[in-house]
Amino acid sequence: MSAEGTVTASVLSLVLVDGDRVAVFDTGNGVGAGKLVPTLEALGIGAAGVTQVVMSHWHPDHINGLSTDGVLTFPNAQVFFPQPEYDFLQNAPADVVGGAVAKLQPALDAEQVAFYNAEDEVVSGVQAIATHGHTPRPYVVPAQLRRQPTASRGRCRPERLCIAAQPRVARRL
Ligand SMILES: [Zn+2]
Repeated sequence: MSAEGTVTASVLSLVLVDGDRVAVFDTGNGVGAGKLVPTLEALGIGAAGVTQVVMSHWHPDHINGLSTDGVLTFPNAQVFFPQPEYDFLQNAPADVVGGAVAKLQPALDAEQVAFYNAEDEVVSGVQAIATHGHTPRPYVVPAQLRRQPTASRGRCRPERLCIAAQPRVARRL
């Protein structure tokens, strides 16, 4: 974490363990292609142990791991999705965003989705900040951790921000 309180990571998924709360930030390329779920299993958490999933935006390398063939990867997790991104999905051409909508739909059907905006405290201790330009509409990424998490590679301990795997592996998450 920098002196400004930001974290720079070269991985697609992060895991925050805080007591009974296990928050996953973005779900990566998917169960078949990614290492997120196997890494969670290796950590003794498993997909079922995830209580919160925070999505930054709808791009496939971030949302594909949210569900597979209509089945949620993290069945017990509330999914936090940025409202501006959801609004975009509602109006964008299906041939552009249809895949992302299909990944999100099981969570919507299960009424497990909550929406957030810039400046919201998305999950406890994590505030959303607005960044613009990566997607067609302004999007929101939860990147400001207001506690004192310690960046840690491949390990999860309470109240620490954890990278889900070693960086050379985690790039494929
Ligand atoms: Zn993207």
